[in-house]
Amino acid sequence: MIMAFAFKTNKDVRKIMLSGIKPTGRPHIGNYFGMMKQLVDLQGEYETYAMIADYHALNSIQKGEEMRSLITDLVIDYLALGLDPKKVILFKQSDVPAHTELCWIFDSIVTMPYLMRAHAYKDAEAKNKEINVGTFNYPVLMAADILLYNTDIVPVGSDQKQHVEYARDIAEKFNHIFGETFKLPTERILEDVKTVPGTDGRKMSKSYGNTIPLFATDEEIKKAVMGIPTDSKGVQDQKDPTTCKVFALHELVGTPGELEALKARYLQGGIGYKESKDLLVERMKRFIGPLRERRDEIAKKKDVVVELLARGAKEARMVSELKMTDIRKKIGVTL
Ligand code: AMP
Repeated sequence: MIMAFAFKTNKDVRKIMLSGIKPTGRPHIGNYFGMMKQLVDLQGEYETYAMIADYHALNSIQKGEEMRSLITDLVIDYLALGLDPKKVILFKQSDVPAHTELCWIFDSIVTMPYLMRAHAYKDAEAKNKEINVGTFNYPVLMAADILLYNTDIVPVGSDQKQHVEYARDIAEKFNHIFGETFKLPTERILEDVKTVPGTDGRKMSKSYGNTIPLFATDEEIKKAVMGIPTDSKGVQDQKDPTTCKVFALHELVGTPGELEALKARYLQGGIGYKESKDLLVERMKRFIGPLRERRDEIAKKKDVVVELLARGAKEARMVSELKMTDIRKKIGVTL
């Protein structure tokens, strides 16, 4: 309550940033460089909402005990990355009923053919997967997540670009039918990151099993990097840094000087993929090691998680309830 007051009565003119992550497994370096790093780096600059998207995760995590521990782990991960709960409203989606309420309201104005054009739905359909209603409706719940807080920017990896476009479309449609209500949000995608490739060359994703976990052990790092497929070029052959997946990962963790030197060696020939991978293992360890140590320390104080989330939930409920009051009036269910 005290924090909420500080947030809302100080004529907070900062822009608003919100981003969510599903507690569906250990976060990986794709999550970090695509979204989590942006959120942590910008947390002082924007009024920031960091959402644990547990109701989105429910589409795939359907064991209570597993969900509970994944949520706890994700909060610890965020704290280890430097997310400051004093600066940020850190909350879980399921603690704020307005998300599902607004999702239902949006369901009444969104059509099925429109949702059928979503990439995630089309991918699942192409793989002949049986799709549950929650997965089909995912972009609508995500629109509710974003629009409830008058969000200006949504830091995401490029895989989520379309979902933020959906949020904008839905906001415009609602505004058109019921009058000006929602701000139109913009995605924030880092040009030099976009989509981090996984160890099999596809997008790095928890569901593909091709990740380098953000808090990986040294052994896990080595195993993941050594498994990256490369072409059959020999040590002396010239290599293309723009298409090499090993190089793409170097770009995330190498210093500018290291990258320049490596690029020159790729173009000239004289470096084999084995050497490039060995270097990547070392640089990945250099990046992940301190994060993992910090996380191990924070994990000893797991008890704070429940309290932090309770505080964040109170904040998020207060802000979202204000918005819902306006929305309910606009749609005419408040007498
Ligand atoms: P998720 O794990 O699907 O909840 O994703 C959380 C955030 O990480 C979203 O903003 C995604 O866009 C981002 N993300 C996930 N995978 C990648 C990737 N391979 N490269 C860049 N960003 C990613």
